[in-house]
Formats: sequence, C-alpha cells, structure tokens
Amino acid sequence: MSNYILYETADAVATITLNRADRRNAQNQPLLEELNEAWERAAADDDVRVILLRAEGPHFSAGHEMSPEATQANPAFGKIRDSIATRGTLELYSWEAKHYFGFSRRWREIPKPSIAAVQGACIAGGLLLAWPCDLIVAADNARFSDPVVMMGIGGVEYHGHTWELGARKAKEMLFTARPIDAAEAERRGMVNRVVPVDELDEQSRALAVEIAQMHPHALAMAKRAVNQTLDTMGQYAALQACFDIHQLGHNSALAQSGQFVLTDHQGIKAAGKK
Ligand code: ZN
Repeated sequence: MSNYILYETADAVATITLNRADRRNAQNQPLLEELNEAWERAAADDDVRVILLRAEGPHFSAGHEMSPEATQANPAFGKIRDSIATRGTLELYSWEAKHYFGFSRRWREIPKPSIAAVQGACIAGGLLLAWPCDLIVAADNARFSDPVVMMGIGGVEYHGHTWELGARKAKEMLFTARPIDAAEAERRGMVNRVVPVDELDEQSRALAVEIAQMHPHALAMAKRAVNQTLDTMGQYAALQACFDIHQLGHNSALAQSGQFVLTDHQGIKAAGKK
C-alpha cells in the first residue's frame, strides 16, 4: 500500500498524485519507488491511455529531500557513505542513476501520453518529475527553479534545462538560481499552457480526457516520433553526459567538505575569491 502516492483511473486516464503536501512533496526513496510503481501500473494497464501527474497541496515538489535528518534516516545514504572506502562514490552514482536519472528517463519512454499539472514551487528534483512528461500544464503561480549551483553542483541529475529553455535561459536559470515563472516557461515552450491555479485540475484533466479519445497506437507512434527526433539530435547522449558531470559535482563537494553537496556557503565563497 502506497503512503506517498495516490492512484486512480477514470475515463481512460490514470491520475497519479504526489501526496506528501506536509513536506511540499519532497522526494525520498519510498516516494520515488511508489511513484515509479504507479507509472508502471499505468503503463501496463491497457485501459489507461493517458497518464496525468499532479500534486496535492500548494506546491508541486520541493525536490529531493536533502535535510540532514532525512539523509540520516535514509538507509540508502548510510549504505552509500559506508561504501566510500571500498567503492569510492560508485554506490552514489548507481543509486542516483537508478532513482533519479533512470526513473525520469523511464517515465519519458512510457509509450502513452503523459501530462504534468504543476502549481507553486517546482524545485530541482521537482523538474525530474515534470520534464519527463509529454505535456506540462502550469498554474499561473507555478515557478520552476534549479538552485543546485548554490550547493556546489552544476545542476540537477537530469539536464533538461538546455532542451527545455534554450542555451541562454538555461544558463541564466543555473547561474542565478532564480525561478522561471509560468508565463516565461510558456514563452520558452517549456510548458504547454498556463491556467488559473484554481482551474489547474479541471483543465489538465480535460486535456487528458481529450487526448484519451485518440487512437492509442497512433498516440504511441506520435510520442515516439518526437522523442526519437530529440534523441537523434543527441538528447539521450547529452543527458547521460550531464548526469556524469553532476556526479563530478558530488565528488568535488565530497573532496572539499566530506558531504555530497556543499551546505557551507563559505566554501563556495572562498572558491569564488581565488
Ligand atoms: Zn545528485
């Protein structure tokens, strides 16, 4: 039984809901595993033609749960830490390759149209949930950010930025850590449409039901045509390369501070002075 994710189907639409509003839908390992199970359930169900990903509460997702208590409580991180002496940071690489990069890539590949409905904050790891969806409907209060540069790392595990925003805006987003609001995200083509926040559920659901009327095989082929075009342009190779660059960031933080990210801004400021 799932704790963090709600799942329901109606009108050939599977609705997957992030249900951890008290923590702004921050992602820990159980939440990600339950979310992946929900995606796989929708993928395997022939009666499901469209997948709608939404979130309870005022914010879509605050990203990966990074608080010291949370990482302390997560057995995966204890295992990763314990393995450093024997395996270096390979355990971290493998864990993130599966739970972050791998899950996002898998959801992107599921041969059914998917829609993310995003309200409020969508921060860092939140992007890893929204970007793999085929369409994004944003509430007018949605804001998208990747402040990971403030932690000494060049961006989140899944480098959608350049593909979604173009090179200059991607750099601005990363360099400044400032959020991109819904209107700008729409101008850049990162979201399909912006709707009033109190109409987000209704409008994203209506779009899902509309698409679910189309021939499922044709939808799968249309999705594949666009995704194959992106991959022919090098998207998969670039994402993989940028995942490795992200891991370099963890390794660099570890070498400097003994932590997987730099939480001490002094270290970042000191590096800037040189
Ligand atoms: Zn990471």
